[in-house]
Amino acid sequence: MKTVGYAAYSSDAEMAPFHFERRALRANDVAIEILYSGVCHSDLHTVNGDWGPQPYPLVPGHEIIGRVLEVGPEVTRYQVGDQVGVGCMVDSCQACDQCDHGEEQFCRNGMTPTYGAPDRITGEITQGGYSKHIVVREEFVLRIPEALDLSRAAPILCAGITTFSPLRTWNIGKGSRVGVIGLGGLGHMAVKLAVAMGAEVTVLSRSTKKEDEARAIGASGILASTDAEAMAQAAASMDLIIDTVPVEHDVTPYASLLDVDGTLVIVGQVGPMKGFMTVPMIMGRRRVAGSLIGGVKETQEVLDFCAEHDIHPICEIIRPEQINEAFEIMGRGDIAHRYVMDMSELSVDS
Ligand SMILES: [Zn+2]
Ligand SMILES: [Zn+2]
Repeated sequence: MKTVGYAAYSSDAEMAPFHFERRALRANDVAIEILYSGVCHSDLHTVNGDWGPQPYPLVPGHEIIGRVLEVGPEVTRYQVGDQVGVGCMVDSCQACDQCDHGEEQFCRNGMTPTYGAPDRITGEITQGGYSKHIVVREEFVLRIPEALDLSRAAPILCAGITTFSPLRTWNIGKGSRVGVIGLGGLGHMAVKLAVAMGAEVTVLSRSTKKEDEARAIGASGILASTDAEAMAQAAASMDLIIDTVPVEHDVTPYASLLDVDGTLVIVGQVGPMKGFMTVPMIMGRRRVAGSLIGGVKETQEVLDFCAEHDIHPICEIIRPEQINEAFEIMGRGDIAHRYVMDMSELSVDS
């Protein structure tokens, strides 16, 4: 199938149109016409080569919303016309213990990311959602509930699941006290999801500048990490902290905010962290943990949860040719919303 997308041709080149072929349908494949594609911070890191060399030209994008165009003969769950999504993975071994219990993101044999990795059967490099079409095996296709606004659902597939999974893992519910560090794409989803689960949520930020923004999405307030007195007063007041800061930083000042047995989960920075003091960890059995997206089943759960609670990420719809501009703004700092490309603007004949 002929398709078109926006690709990075090298680590320092701008994104540019790229015509390429999607594979012919295998028996268990679903062909999808992409309608919306979210722009994730990790797309930018990946194409820039921040996380290692890449197989260029590379089409990023792992927050994909579309409609089923065609299905292989063995596909049972989807029909032509269904509204569907694809997140950060397109395949895994489907045989190990992690795949067995629905945590394909931790597949013992390595899951296949949506872009930039060899296909398990042919070895050809996967290409992501900044494109008109995608072909994915049915086990990695998600159902998009009718109640979700398609134009604002894409970021649930990465930003949503990345914050939903730790909230579920640490059993957040009514009465839980949750802190969220950073109010960018991940942070604002963490706030909305935790509030919908019944938690009391505090946003942690360098200043109280985003107080109105935080309250508007349900947080009870904002705590400025630079305000030593306020930080001291808030000591031992949280059960879970979701740390969405995407750069190297020190978690020590935040660790003291955790109650005994509390956990700080890192979901933003992938790479080195500034050395931290073990004192708050020891003096309260506190933990620092990490978390990576979620399995297919849990990703379906977060989509259904967002539909049920009318949760949508804050999105700004852009045309595909605005991607370089969006990357530039994202590269400069944390933005409190997600760019979502309207892929209907892209034509294979262009
Ligand atoms: Zn992402
Ligand atoms: Zn596996």
